[in-house]
Amino acid sequence: MAHPETGARRMGQACDHTRVNGPSIPSRATCVRCLRPQATCLCALARPTAHRTEVLVLQHPQEQRQAKNSVAMLRLSLAHCEVVVGERFAPGALEDLLHRPGRQTWLLYPDVPAAPAPAAPGATAGKPVRLVVLDATWRKSLRMLLEHPALAALPRLSLDAPAPTRYRAIRAARRFDQVSTLEATVQALAILEGPSFDAAPLLDAFGCFVAGVAARQRPQACSGQA
Ligand SMILES: [Zn+2]
Repeated sequence: MAHPETGARRMGQACDHTRVNGPSIPSRATCVRCLRPQATCLCALARPTAHRTEVLVLQHPQEQRQAKNSVAMLRLSLAHCEVVVGERFAPGALEDLLHRPGRQTWLLYPDVPAAPAPAAPGATAGKPVRLVVLDATWRKSLRMLLEHPALAALPRLSLDAPAPTRYRAIRAARRFDQVSTLEATVQALAILEGPSFDAAPLLDAFGCFVAGVAARQRPQACSGQA
């Protein structure tokens, strides 16, 4: 079930709707909106960003616990962003998540030899999009894709030339083109929505978040940064 304020959901390992749990009850020291410790609350960094595309983030459980994870900021800033935590999804539950009436669903994922993109018809011009994003390490996202035929069958949106990541300071990129989930999603929305989509304030705020995390990790090296 959706958390009343955050919209975040957790999907149990058993992966059917009877086992869906809400997020754990926040302790006093946890922000009820972003679900992070008060000391590292992200709410002030949220930048409401107008967009039309629905975003569904399937978040690996390990990412949910990462202090450096970028999805919380994305969810706080995008009005149409749903986050579902899980690693394995029952086929029926996954189909329910992936598709919405009147929308074409795309998967944000590169066409790679280990998981070639399906031969799919091109986008239907003018039809609104539901964009599915996997929030996991490269290896785990590939496994999620290979283990879920419904995901592998989706037409792909890949970023041919991802912008340089602000993320490199805090998470070692495993591939040259690996960017944070927030940055990749924002780039995809820019492709889908064109110049009317302006994520510059969000990307600037994300830069502040990255700098803050890096400063906590290496306080001497990063002194003086925002
Ligand atoms: Zn917060």
